[in-house]
Amino acid sequence: MEYTNNKESCAIGNMNLRDLTILDAKEGLKNKQFSAVELTQAALDQIKLQDKNLNAFITVTEKEALESAKHADTLIAQGVDLALLGIPIALKDLFSTKGIRTTAASNVLDDYIPQFDATVVTKLKSAGAIIVGKTNCDAWAHGSSGENSDFGPAKNPYNLEYVPGGSSSGSPVAVAAGMSLMATGTDTGGSIRLPASFCNVVGLKPTYGRVSRYGIVAMASSLDSIGHFTKTVADNALVLGVTAGQDPLDATTPNRDVPDYSRFLKQDLKGIKIGVPKEYYAQGLDKKMQKLAENALGVLKSRGATVIDITLPYSQSAIAVYYIIQTAEVSSNLARYDSIRYGNDRSYFGEEAKRRIMLGTYVLSAGYYDAYYKKAQQVRTLIVDDFKKAFEQVDAIVAPVSPTSPWKIGAKTDDPLAMYLSDIFTVTANIAGLPGLSVPAGFIDGLPSGIQILGPHFSEEKLYHIGHAYEQETQFWKEAPQV
Ligand code: GLN
Repeated sequence: MEYTNNKESCAIGNMNLRDLTILDAKEGLKNKQFSAVELTQAALDQIKLQDKNLNAFITVTEKEALESAKHADTLIAQGVDLALLGIPIALKDLFSTKGIRTTAASNVLDDYIPQFDATVVTKLKSAGAIIVGKTNCDAWAHGSSGENSDFGPAKNPYNLEYVPGGSSSGSPVAVAAGMSLMATGTDTGGSIRLPASFCNVVGLKPTYGRVSRYGIVAMASSLDSIGHFTKTVADNALVLGVTAGQDPLDATTPNRDVPDYSRFLKQDLKGIKIGVPKEYYAQGLDKKMQKLAENALGVLKSRGATVIDITLPYSQSAIAVYYIIQTAEVSSNLARYDSIRYGNDRSYFGEEAKRRIMLGTYVLSAGYYDAYYKKAQQVRTLIVDDFKKAFEQVDAIVAPVSPTSPWKIGAKTDDPLAMYLSDIFTVTANIAGLPGLSVPAGFIDGLPSGIQILGPHFSEEKLYHIGHAYEQETQFWKEAPQV
């Protein structure tokens, strides 16, 4: 099939990468509609065309990508079948990539080149994926908007004056704008679900430990989860099958089977009980966002689900607990950047990292430890118990991802507290180690927003089942940005 670059957008024949899912691309490669080199070139051309405006990438790996694509074409010709063979993907710039600069979007690591791949990177490469580049994010993954990046903020592809959500900001932008078919992220307090929601793509935060954290720049080690962005739920299920599983290099990954997640994608929700926590639909929730979430519940009901009111009373303490435990762990993890082995010296840390190092050091210091850190750990257990009780009643919980739709770039940069409050609905899943799936749920004043589906530990297949049934009815992902 003919490959065209018509300047408006990069396309293969009459297919635009913005409209192409991984499953479509696999089909196209199999039927020889296009080659892996053509597909990769289309992604690279889209980056060249769009990324001046979007700033989704910190590093583009054109040469390596085309070499891997050529190799993928050889394998395809030999009849090799791998889950992601020939599929262009992007990695959040927190994922260590051997021989490729990995910055964590911070000037501290601006010229750091790792000597090894993160486990997830190794798995994705072994599955045949083609890495087109490293995506922009808040420095060290600290943030909700992408504006803390030392490389300048990524932009929302639906309106360049708005934030794409953070901290994994460039990854969902890359997927939404057709610059890659999948991109990875990290979610410590919402950094996959929030930007997925703001960019009209699907984002999975897996159960803590489901995907290895080895080789990924740590933010807060008891909260960090490694996940990914795709256009559809089916694509997402395919990728988790590749990345999940036990890793001898990360002791928090259990020896537990990785199911074929695609088997759980069903159309109807008969017998599924969905919990609606009253604390998530209360004060602080924007009226239009409330309407959007209620519409989503209506769709779930129409597919056969039963919707049940539940309560998660300790959620009101979640932001406080999160900003104590998270900053404590951040202050410890960032202590390793001493410029002795690699990286620049500590004067290169930005404002937000410094703020968190100070807060974290404070809550851990003698005299304050019991009042803050220990207390936060105790309340963490109460939040875990809240969810345990809820999941005795329901299969999953459905709630808005964020209290508001995307905001204008700059609107919250002078008010860290306002920025922190945008995580109010997402941090609970990290505190309890639960999986959460963000799915596109419509538009508010022209900007996308999603809903999140939360489930018990290791219930990813259930989240995919519900998300897929919802997506079949709504198809919001098809609404491409006009970049
Ligand atoms: N926005 C949250 C924070 O700034 C979450 C960050 C994340 O998940 N990496 O802490």
